[in-house]
Amino acid sequence: MKYKNFEKCERLKKGILSKEFITSFCENNCFYCAFRKDRNFKREFIQPEKLAKSFFEKYRKGYARGIFISSAILKSSDETQYLINKSAIILRKKYGYRGYMHIKIMPDTDYFAIKEALLYADRASVNFEAPGDSYLKKLSKDKDFKKIFDTVLKMRRAYFELRGKYPFILPYGICTQFIYSPLSERDRDYLEFTEFLYRKINLKMVYFSRFTPVQRTPFESLKQVSLLREKRIYQASLLIRDYGFSLNDIPLDENGNLIKNKDPKLVYAEKNYHLFPVDIKKASYEILLRIPGIGPKIAKKIIQNRDDINLYNLDKLGINLKRAGRFILVSGKSPLKQASLF
Ligand code: SF4
Repeated sequence: MKYKNFEKCERLKKGILSKEFITSFCENNCFYCAFRKDRNFKREFIQPEKLAKSFFEKYRKGYARGIFISSAILKSSDETQYLINKSAIILRKKYGYRGYMHIKIMPDTDYFAIKEALLYADRASVNFEAPGDSYLKKLSKDKDFKKIFDTVLKMRRAYFELRGKYPFILPYGICTQFIYSPLSERDRDYLEFTEFLYRKINLKMVYFSRFTPVQRTPFESLKQVSLLREKRIYQASLLIRDYGFSLNDIPLDENGNLIKNKDPKLVYAEKNYHLFPVDIKKASYEILLRIPGIGPKIAKKIIQNRDDINLYNLDKLGINLKRAGRFILVSGKSPLKQASLF
């Protein structure tokens, strides 16, 4: 499975998403955050008109291809959301901006402000930060898990209400983000909640922002989470989202964490070797997705070209024999044995 760099932001097809903040002034004191109220640093605020104008200039010059409008919490969620929405409206209406726009929804925002945001956004998100109430309490005394959850439900309600009238609304859906594992929370807990969010709440994407300690915060002495761990949690979460895996299929160690030195799909295949090799000329789409090195794109190609597949044209379908070779057969023959004849 390919790993994309999700670390900072989503990437657009032709360029970079510009993350624009209304303000770094914040009412809250989350233990991990650079913007927390008690942290002493020079804060900034930008009026919606100015934010829209400066982004549109970047966009016009080709320095940015999309915008993510976010903010710390200035006075209240509603007031902050008002400023975020205002920036979006100015960009869309005054500047005629038609590009990609991701809008952050503040937890506990008023329903009508959410509806307004969804009218202008391509994607909207509210951050859970943690995979449960007890975990969130350790990250922040100000955040309320139930209020965040209710906000997601309000977003869903607003989306379905608007979709009747505007069928193309919010094409990139609703998503969320976790601060990934500052207190060594178990991967199992992140993945369990992620599975719930994908299956029951229909979120489009769950992002994992690996924890990096910020100086002069209560979490400054905690350890940074490695890029490799972040990569593994993304791989496992995408197995749940796109590959039909359930949490029970994901191999975890005795502490409930992913195995760090291997792709979780490969670990799954090696642990379930009795299910392989699979004859790709006969296997269903769901089974093809279980084979290491075969993703939704290649699985679809295999199904579309089934009659023409032979041992000599696997590379044309994008099948990487180094990864998939030992797990597949073609009309009962192993491509690896065939390759070793030459
Ligand atoms: S995480 Fe958000 S609410 Fe918490 S301190 Fe940072 S900006 Fe404020």
